[in-house]
Amino acid sequence: MALRVKSVWSPVSRKDDGLRILATRFRGRGLPTNRYDVWMPSLGPSERILKAYQARRMTWAAFVREFRQELFLAGPIDTRSRTIKNHGQKFTLRLIKQLAQKGNVTLMCHCPEDTATCHRHVLKALIRSGRV
Ligand SMILES: [Zn+2]
Repeated sequence: MALRVKSVWSPVSRKDDGLRILATRFRGRGLPTNRYDVWMPSLGPSERILKAYQARRMTWAAFVREFRQELFLAGPIDTRSRTIKNHGQKFTLRLIKQLAQKGNVTLMCHCPEDTATCHRHVLKALIRSGRV
């Protein structure tokens, strides 16, 4: 699967990156729009857990656990359907998985390239898992 992760601030490689997805809740002031193809705030952690983790009020393990839960949370529209529900970002993650099987896809965040504790790694692992 041609699914990659990188910092949105790292050099752009049109050939290797393929579809560049900015998967952050905040777009970032001063970020030129040509650094990504699509911005998907729905793939970023909620402000509540992002701020708690950044302020060190939440461990990385707790952040990962809550972030993974958030990705599958039902939305208000799900109360209108009895059978087929949206299941949060489940179908979006499936779409990304399909796209990455047909071409390169890069999930990006503002964190520096060498940041191991970034939600983009959680997204990549989840998409590569059998869970979506
Ligand atoms: Zn990050």
